[in-house]
Amino acid sequence: MEANKKWLSIPDEFRKKLINNGFCAKCRGAVTITDFIIVDHPEGVMLEGKCKNCGNKVVRVVEMDE
Ligand SMILES: [Zn+2]
Repeated sequence: MEANKKWLSIPDEFRKKLINNGFCAKCRGAVTITDFIIVDHPEGVMLEGKCKNCGNKVVRVVEMDE
């Protein structure tokens, strides 16, 4: 399955939680990810975007079953 389709198969509420729970190394905590793209990942998919607070690169791996 394409990364984007995998992502969209995740329930809406859970996706929102994931977007709001990226880890920013600069802010040292959970941040909202903005301007992200969905890329394929061996464990599932990965969000690749920016920290809403400081613009630092933030990634979030989403583990999921095929
Ligand atoms: Zn940040």
